[in-house]
Amino acid sequence: MNSNETNKIKELLSTPKNIIIVTHKNPDGDAIGSSLALYHYLKFSEHHVTVITPNDYPSFLKWVPGEKNIIKYDNDTQIASDRIIEADIIFTLDFNHLSRSGDMQNILAATKSTFVMIDHHQQPDTYATYTYSDSSMSSTCQMIYHFIEKLGDLDKITPDIATSIYVGIMTDTGSFRYRSTTSTTHRVLADLIDKGADNTRIHEKIYDTNTLSRIQLKGIAFKNLRVLPEYNTAYITLSQKELDQHSFKKGDTEGFVNFGLSILDVKFAVIFIENKGERIIKISLRSKGDFSVNEFSRNHFEGGGHHNAAGGRSNLSLSDTVEKFISILPAYKNVLNQ
Ligand code: 5GP
Ligand code: MN
Repeated sequence: MNSNETNKIKELLSTPKNIIIVTHKNPDGDAIGSSLALYHYLKFSEHHVTVITPNDYPSFLKWVPGEKNIIKYDNDTQIASDRIIEADIIFTLDFNHLSRSGDMQNILAATKSTFVMIDHHQQPDTYATYTYSDSSMSSTCQMIYHFIEKLGDLDKITPDIATSIYVGIMTDTGSFRYRSTTSTTHRVLADLIDKGADNTRIHEKIYDTNTLSRIQLKGIAFKNLRVLPEYNTAYITLSQKELDQHSFKKGDTEGFVNFGLSILDVKFAVIFIENKGERIIKISLRSKGDFSVNEFSRNHFEGGGHHNAAGGRSNLSLSDTVEKFISILPAYKNVLNQ
């Protein structure tokens, strides 16, 4: 986003507007954090602001300041649709293709409002009037900080805004370890702590939320972990039955895909999670180094994301999905052995 565009957005926001903030389906910490940070920031300037998510999100996010005001499209479709139709401006955060908003995509595509995209995924679509897209960024939350900075409003960051931004930077960087974590990311974090983000409390609120059944589900994931040494690859499967036996709730499998990646020499880790309700296998893919899971998922599993972290899906059975996956690996043998 150049300074000309920044000025236009500034002008747009100089009088009260009806503003909608939407994020992707199955929102994560970055999606909720960025949406609520922007929500608090815009509320300040007398705008009428509504955050709409396509569906529900994990309970470990149900404390982020302002969270209770979020409208879930699949629960409150009529209210959400009315608000979208009335919107002057729609911010789309942490995704870059309208299909990622699930069932909301048609109504979003049909509205005439001004769209502003703020996102850090690769290969952005062109639906927005103003696109702030930077795939080198750690998180959409860090981009919200820079967005506020571009508008000259860093002094308006309240503890609620600082907390919301901190959440998404922390969750999207695996607590500041992935290579998208730069010295600038750390400077942003330092400023957020100065502005009232209680970092220790935030870590506890997000990560120390296990239940016994979730820890036992983790045990099943460990038991099902397989390594394919010739491809430096590891994968985990979880069937619907295994999830049901451990009172699975949204978010319970968050981070499980990383178990495989913590094994010595493993460069590519995948988890296949059966979802009988949606009749799909949800796939999460992670890598280290040069192997692009974004490309891999785009090419084979109808997904995408980032170079080292992506998602996808399969309409085959769990075992057929794994079989397909294993059959694809020989084509990547060289890059996985570099
Ligand atoms: P996760 O594995 O945690 O669901 O997703 C990893 C990353 O890939 C996230 O940044 C997420 O937004 C992105 N992602 C997940 N599923 C999809 C998908 O189906 N399509 C695209 N383009 N990105 C996805
Ligand atoms: Mn993100």
